[in-house]
Formats: sequence, structure tokens, C-alpha cells
Amino acid sequence: MFFLGIVSAKAQNEAYAEPVEHKIEDTTFVNLKDYSKDFVYDMKYATEDNFLKAKVYDCAECFLRLKTVKALVEANKDFMKKGYKIKLYDCYRPLSIQKKMWEIVSNPEYVADPKKGSIHNRGGAVDISIVDANGKEVDMGTAFDFFGPEAGHNYTKLSKQILANRKFLKKIMIQNGFNSFDSEWWHYNLKTGLKDTVSNQKWNCE
Ligand SMILES: [Zn+2]
Repeated sequence: MFFLGIVSAKAQNEAYAEPVEHKIEDTTFVNLKDYSKDFVYDMKYATEDNFLKAKVYDCAECFLRLKTVKALVEANKDFMKKGYKIKLYDCYRPLSIQKKMWEIVSNPEYVADPKKGSIHNRGGAVDISIVDANGKEVDMGTAFDFFGPEAGHNYTKLSKQILANRKFLKKIMIQNGFNSFDSEWWHYNLKTGLKDTVSNQKWNCE
């Protein structure tokens, strides 16, 4: 299996008889739900409600590299202090799915060319919004995966409230080590995740 969970093992040598916790590398892929229960899941690619019009994930799990998970959990704590929670649309994305997306939308403003690979394929990007205390999605002006200028951070012909909502999302994410992406209000990638390798492993569904 590709994605290893937390493992502990007893040292073989009697001189080290104490149980030893294996330290998980920051670049290991982990399941977000094992680190926090405070996220709302709306994994669009595990349904047919997406621009591919196809269910391309077998189950709605959010896998990311551990360092991405750590930063995301911290960002969520900041949102929770203000009465909001992160809602997830997409996390790690196998390269094969990236290829399918590129076939439909071959425009690098909206979908990364699979030859280069998206930060999603590297386990360092998330597509998110926020929900309020009642679980209601905050108005960001467009739906997730709306491929048009209205989805961009530089588009200002929106209500003051919507602009403030986008700004709030961006501010907290940037404070927690993420970069925004100009043409998609929902996309954030970990600044330190850009150089990690592209992966094409699918996760196990239990
Ligand atoms: Zn994205």
C-alpha cells in the first residue's frame, strides 16, 4: 500500500526496548481525517457534480502531504476562532485525473497541464471554501470550478460582501503558508509544496 498510516514499532535491539514512534516525514501522504474532525467535506470529484460530469474518485477522502495537512489544520483553527470552518472540494489528485481534466479544459488558467503537473498532483494544493456556524456556504460569487473571469481574485464587479469574503479566505490561508491562485478563488497551494514529486497513486477506500 502506498499511503502509510501512523506506525509504531518496538525496536529490535534489546538495548532499545522502549516502544519507538516512527516519525512521519512531512512529505508523507496522509488522510486529513486522521488529523482533524473539524473539516466539512464536499469532494466534488467523488460525485458526478463536477465539470468532468463523472465520478472519478471511488470515495470522498482528502489525502495530502503531512506538511499540507498541518498548515491546513492551523488555517482551520483560525477560521473556527471567527465562527467558520473550511469546506473541502478537492485535495491530492492523481495524475491520471489531471489528464482527464486537461482533455476537457486545455487552458492553463484553469487546469494545469499534466505534462508539468498540478500542485494537486504533488499533494500540496486544496480547493476550498468556508461555511458559517450553521454549515451554510459563504458566498464567494461563483460556484467552485466556474471557469470564467468572475472566479478570479482580480475580478471586482462583485458585491462588497463577496469581495470581503474572498479577502477573508485569502488572508487566513496566506497567513498559514499558502499561496492563492489568481484565476480561482477556491485554490490554495502550500508554498513549500511546489517542488514535491507528482504522484499517480490512488488511495484505498475502506
Ligand atoms: Zn485547485
